[in-house]
Amino acid sequence: MSDNTLPSVSPVLAQPDDAREDDHFHDECGVFGVYEHPDAGALTALGLHALQHRGQEAAGIVSFDGRQFYNERHIGLVGDNFTKQSVIGRLKGSRAIGHTRYSTTGAPVLRNVQPLYAELAGGGFAVAHNGNLTNAQTLQRALQERGSIFQSTSDTETIIHLVAMSAKSAFVDRLIDALSQLEGAYAVVALSEKKLIGARDPLGVRPLVLGDLGGTYVLASETCALDIIGAHYVRDVEPGEVVVITENGLQSMKPFHTTSNHSRFCIFEYVYFARPDSSVNGTNVYSVRKRIGEELARESGVDADIVVPVPDSGTPAAIGYAQEAGLPFELGIIRNHYVGRTFIQPTDSIRHMGVKLKHNANRAMLDGKRVVLVDDSIVRGTTSLKIVQMVREAGAKEVHMRIASPPTRDSCFYGVDTPEKSKLLASRMSIEEMADYIKVDSLAFLSIDGLYRAVGEAGRNGDAPQYCDACFTSDYPTSLTDRSGGAEVRQLNRLVEVS
Ligand code: SF4
Repeated sequence: MSDNTLPSVSPVLAQPDDAREDDHFHDECGVFGVYEHPDAGALTALGLHALQHRGQEAAGIVSFDGRQFYNERHIGLVGDNFTKQSVIGRLKGSRAIGHTRYSTTGAPVLRNVQPLYAELAGGGFAVAHNGNLTNAQTLQRALQERGSIFQSTSDTETIIHLVAMSAKSAFVDRLIDALSQLEGAYAVVALSEKKLIGARDPLGVRPLVLGDLGGTYVLASETCALDIIGAHYVRDVEPGEVVVITENGLQSMKPFHTTSNHSRFCIFEYVYFARPDSSVNGTNVYSVRKRIGEELARESGVDADIVVPVPDSGTPAAIGYAQEAGLPFELGIIRNHYVGRTFIQPTDSIRHMGVKLKHNANRAMLDGKRVVLVDDSIVRGTTSLKIVQMVREAGAKEVHMRIASPPTRDSCFYGVDTPEKSKLLASRMSIEEMADYIKVDSLAFLSIDGLYRAVGEAGRNGDAPQYCDACFTSDYPTSLTDRSGGAEVRQLNRLVEVS
């Protein structure tokens, strides 16, 4: 067994933010990895910075210098924790992986922050995971019965235990053995003493791209993380593909036996999660969002004077809508970009003002106008209600809300933070009732076929849907073993961190 030890470094704790108040679905995580570069730690910090939108609760990096692994994990933003040279300097070595986290499984405490690290029989192993396993609790119970001791509440730890328990001998075979037992969505980056490994689940629900930085391989959730370090996009890691990067180059494998050979990439990545300057699954996100707006204008155009986005997430669709409808695009709502995510521990009264901290109506544009307001989605409807009220108070004569996705009627179990189904406005109200609730003159959502057209398909193939769209259609592409098996839905760990 190697003598690798994991030097413990400062657990700097900051206040978790209150991001859940903004009434959006939230992607859980971004991952990044780099193999054989003298600035691997710094490059990983930059990559995570570009992926900050995929998770703002915590971030971590594990590097390897050929002898030891080094670990820095912090609650809070990448920019608050990974900018000092003293921090980057501790991440020694030419290989590193990193993770930025928005927890859906497990509480925001340091022991859940990824990458997770373990000393296994064959040496050190670090892993970071974007996605969510739908059989994690079922697997965990089986592992505990065989003696596994879980430290975190993250379902990613399940992967480590499955690797540790595998009867295979080669490290990559043990990881493949572990991954083949998982259900749900995963885009994984892992670091062993000899290898950087990337893997996507057989349906490719969550994104993972491969880049090249002067002969050095890079893995990242989105291409914007390649851009920031000057790396070139090579290709997407394919659904069900495992890429193994060593000093001998890159080896690709397709080890999973599946009944279906087509992917079910998350279509919501195009609607909201991914950065508009990224390409995910081979397609530029901004272009898709503009086409969504064009589809929306064709499907549910209305007589109006101006098109106004709810910034920032509604902006590209509003541009597309305005161009297609031949209406002026105006910034009728201004977003304050300087609202600190840890601005305040909100009291109820301050929380009520939250939307005005972030958005303000631009009266000069709205007064006396018939306004088409474009947003990406409606989740609980709380923000929409306040935004519409704000636009009306600024003098808008009519407010017509257009939503750049179909109604979100169901929860996501694939690595996206969603409220319970009962809290989703569209699960308990018709579109007319929703229009009354948010007090608009008219409300329309993009059709599911319109969304598929925007991503380049002729429409949704009901027999074999080309994407995961379960939060719109309730058509889940994998088993939901933990739920359908009647498993007690609980945290994966009962320990409460009190300090
Ligand atoms: Fe994406 Fe919705 Fe599927 Fe979740 S359920 S992976 S958010 S499309």
